[in-house]
Amino acid sequence: MIYDAIIIGGGPAGLMAANVLSEHKVRFLLLEKNDQLGRKLLITGGKRCNVTNRYSVDQFISNLNFKHKKFLYPTLKSFGPEDVIMFFKKRNLNLKLEENLKYFPETNKSSSVLDALVLGIDQSCIKLRSNVKNIRIEDGLFSIKTAEEHYLTKRVVIATGSNAYPYTGSSGDGLYFAEKLGISVIPFTPAETHVYSAYIPSVFKDLQGVSISNSEIKIPGTKVIHHGGLLFTHFGLSGPAILHAAEDIDEAIGKGISDITISLTDLSRDELIKSMESAKQQNELIIKFLESITHKSIARKVLELTTIPNKNMKEISVKQYQTLVDVLLTMKIPIDRVEAKERAFVNKGGISTTELDPKTMQIKKIKGLYAIGETVDVHGPIGGFNITIAMSAGYAAAHDIIHQIEQEK
Ligand SMILES: Cc1cc2nc3c(=O)[nH]c(=O)nc-3n(C[C@H](O)[C@H](O)[C@H](O)COP(=O)(O)OP(=O)(O)OC[C@H]3O[C@@H](n4cnc5c(N)ncnc54)[C@H](O)[C@@H]3O)c2cc1C
Repeated sequence: MIYDAIIIGGGPAGLMAANVLSEHKVRFLLLEKNDQLGRKLLITGGKRCNVTNRYSVDQFISNLNFKHKKFLYPTLKSFGPEDVIMFFKKRNLNLKLEENLKYFPETNKSSSVLDALVLGIDQSCIKLRSNVKNIRIEDGLFSIKTAEEHYLTKRVVIATGSNAYPYTGSSGDGLYFAEKLGISVIPFTPAETHVYSAYIPSVFKDLQGVSISNSEIKIPGTKVIHHGGLLFTHFGLSGPAILHAAEDIDEAIGKGISDITISLTDLSRDELIKSMESAKQQNELIIKFLESITHKSIARKVLELTTIPNKNMKEISVKQYQTLVDVLLTMKIPIDRVEAKERAFVNKGGISTTELDPKTMQIKKIKGLYAIGETVDVHGPIGGFNITIAMSAGYAAAHDIIHQIEQEK
C-alpha cells in the first residue's frame, strides 16, 4: 500500500497535521515511537499546558529572539493564537487567560489539551511504538523504515521535535533524517533555560529565592539586552528574563565572553538618578534609599559590596555615588555555563529555515517532504509560543498536502 502521507512524531505539530488530514479523509499514518502520544505536551506548563497567548501575529513575532523570525509570518497568519483558541473551543475545551497573556485549559490539565488534539484523528491512522529509523527516496516515493515495518508514501512530514527532554521521545532524530537527505541543519543548542554561576551562591548566598521583577540583563561587548523577571537560586540565575537570555548567553560563552551584567532594581538609569537626587535632598540614609528601590536583602548586599558606610545620601562622594549607580544597574556576574540542551525547555537550531517554503513548510528541493514544529530552526520564549508555532506549522503542511492531492486528481 502506498500512503498519501506519513507524519513522523505525535507531538502538537504532528497531531495538528493529523487532525487536518483526518478531517479531509486523507490516507495517512502517524508514526510515534512512544507507547503514547504527546508525552512532552503532558508535562508542559507545569502539567497545565500554556497552549497559546493573546498576542496578535505581529506582537507574537516581535517577541521572538531569532533573526529570521519573520519566516513564521505566513503560517501564523493562516493559523495563529486566535485560531488555536477556536480549535480547542470547537472541541469543547475552553482556554482561560492568565497574567493577561497566557492561555491555559479551563480544566488546568495538559491531558485535556492532548485529548482534544487526538479527538479528531482517525485512530486507525495512528501507529504507536513505531520508531522511525530511516527515510529514503526510492523511485519518486519515500521509503520509511521502523524497527519492524517498512512503509511507502508519497509525502512525509517530519515532526520529531528537538533534543530537549529526550526522555519524552524528542531525541533530535529530525536532524539525522535531514542530514542524510542532504538538507542543511543547525545543531540544537539550549534555549529557554537557567544559567549556572558559582559566584551567585558564594557572593549572593542570602539572596537565594529572591527575585527582581524587571531586571535588565546585558551581555558586555554585544547589543544583547533582555528585560524581565530574574531569580537568584542555589546554582545561579533563573526567572523569565534569564530563561529568554540563555541562548544569547550560551552563544556569548562560545565566543569567550563569560560575564553578564544584571540590574538589581526595576528602575531605569533616569529613574534611578532621579530617586537618588530626591533621597539626597531628603537627607535619607543610604540603606533606607536602597530599600525603597529594591528588595531589602539586595539593599543590604549592595551596601556590603560597595563598602560604602551607611551614612546620609548627602554625604556620599561623587565616586561613591557612581559606584552605587554601577552596582545597581550593571552588576557584573561571571557565568560558568548554560543548562544543557537536553535539560532546556526548548532548543535553538534545527532544520534550516532556508530549506523550507515558509507558506507550506515543504522542503524546497524535495517535493513532498515537510518539516514542522521544534525540529525546525524556530522557537519561542515561555508563554505559549512554542505550541502555537508547532500547531500553526502542522496546519500549513497538512493543507498543502491536501492541495497537492487535489491537484493530482
Ligand atoms: C518542561 C517543558 C515545559 C514546556 N511548557 C510549554 C508551554 O507551557 N507552552 C508552550 O508553548 N511550550 C512549552 N514547551 C515547549 C513545547 O513542549 C515544545 O516546543 C513542543 O512540544 C514542540 O512540539 P513538536 O510537536 O514539534 O515536538 P514534540 O512535542 O517534541 O513531539 C515530537 C514527537 O516525535 C516523536 N518522535 C521523535 N523521534 C521519532 C522517531 N524517530 N520516530 C517516531 N516518533 C518520533 C517523539 O516521541 C515525540 O512524541 C515546554 C517544554 C518543556 C520541555
